[in-house]
Amino acid sequence: DDNTTAVSPKVLLGRYELGGLLGRGASAKVYLARDLLTGRDVAIKSFPNPRAGGTGTGPAPIEREAAILRRLRHRHVVRLHEILGTRSRVHFVLDLAAGGELFSLVDASGRMTEDLARHYFRQLVSAVRYCHSRGVFHRDIKPENLLLDAAGDLKVADFGLGALAADAGTSPLRHTMCGTPAYVSPEILSKQGYDPAKVDIWSCGVVLFVLAAGYLPFNDGSLINMYRKIYAGRFRCPNWFSPELRHLLRCILDPNPATRIGTDGIVDHPWFRHGATGDDAEL
Ligand code: ADP
Ligand code: MG
Repeated sequence: DDNTTAVSPKVLLGRYELGGLLGRGASAKVYLARDLLTGRDVAIKSFPNPRAGGTGTGPAPIEREAAILRRLRHRHVVRLHEILGTRSRVHFVLDLAAGGELFSLVDASGRMTEDLARHYFRQLVSAVRYCHSRGVFHRDIKPENLLLDAAGDLKVADFGLGALAADAGTSPLRHTMCGTPAYVSPEILSKQGYDPAKVDIWSCGVVLFVLAAGYLPFNDGSLINMYRKIYAGRFRCPNWFSPELRHLLRCILDPNPATRIGTDGIVDHPWFRHGATGDDAEL
């Protein structure tokens, strides 16, 4: 790993002037950058180039993430502009989500009102529905991967664990163990193979709970106890949740993926539709 990119002003391919670090994940560092051609700010997700050796991993994960991003064009999904390769790094040039992580909103204020949670949840479900319709499954939906743009609108980011329906031939079932413990669905834990669409819906439910409650639905000091709660779908709603929100959460955080509500059911649910006008773009 190198830190040289952040030390002095550096221009990639004579076009992108690198700025400060925006965030980091398991696989990459993300920098602010100025596109000198358009004058606009962008985000650059920078990976160690697997071809440079040293990491031991092949190019497949980065190429899959790129293939997924190229398929997606939606107002609530971070867009890939281009990919730059240098000897030591691979850089994704992305839409800048200048508002940072949705997580920081939850952090700062503890929780948000049901109306605000519904606002972000509608944008999230709109993005997830779109991705599924394009044969893309995110598989790592959690607040750190949900970003806000300068206007405060949600952008789904980080398809690093994403899956393409086309990769599995005719079966949508997957066996890869992935995701983040608190957001992972029971069927992933049971290692029986799963429908990746249902897995995304589950983690959207965990996100919705976190937004409205300010804490995780399934949590425990011990990981094994947390997994037990997830496996049983055992969670308690705080007393300020409305009956409609409780009902929707029970439908989403249903440990049985076969009876769990789908995206069509979610958008028809009274809590989701509450106060919506016919021309609401998110519905
Ligand atoms: P990883 O695959 O390593 O988890 P992410 O794509 O999740 O990498 O990026 C890591 C972090 O960088 C994110 O959690 C977020 O804070 C920040 N980030 C990622 N993409 C953007 C973007 N387009 N705009 C602004 N910040 C971003
Ligand atoms: Mg991430």
